Amino acid sequence: MKTSTFRIVPLSTEVAEAARRAAASGTLDHTVVVADSPQGYPCRHCLRFAKPGERLILFPYASIPAGHPYSETGPIFVHEQPCERYATTDQFPLDLRRGRVIRAYNSNYDMIDAEVVNASEPEAVIEKLLEKPETAFVDVRSVTRGCYTCRIQRQ
Ligand SMILES: [Zn+2]
Repeated sequence: MKTSTFRIVPLSTEVAEAARRAAASGTLDHTVVVADSPQGYPCRHCLRFAKPGERLILFPYASIPAGHPYSETGPIFVHEQPCERYATTDQFPLDLRRGRVIRAYNSNYDMIDAEVVNASEPEAVIEKLLEKPETAFVDVRSVTRGCYTCRIQRQ
């Protein structure tokens, strides 16, 4: 079996817990939403789609920190209830194989490449982007809405 060259980095449990606390205390930019479709609400902590009826917190997350030309803050979901952080980090999450774009960044957080992937080949695109010496990490995003999904680093 081929060993993966990459490592999936889901949203940290610390960030997910902070979002849950902020939503519980009524912070205005943290909203509770109820999933109303099976593939519209990917939780960035467990990297699974929320099931219809499950509650999530919608909040802004700075995937690229402030102070850079490509600085970016955008909306993401986490389950409202504690969930298990995605653990099989050498495997691309099954729920995220469709509708994704993969962006490569250098160590200054500059975007240096991007490619839309189809369901059969996220691994090949990730490996190709990570082979570039200047790539520091790649980010997976929604191709339709642009939202940050997860980060991927070299093993
Ligand atoms: Zn979750």
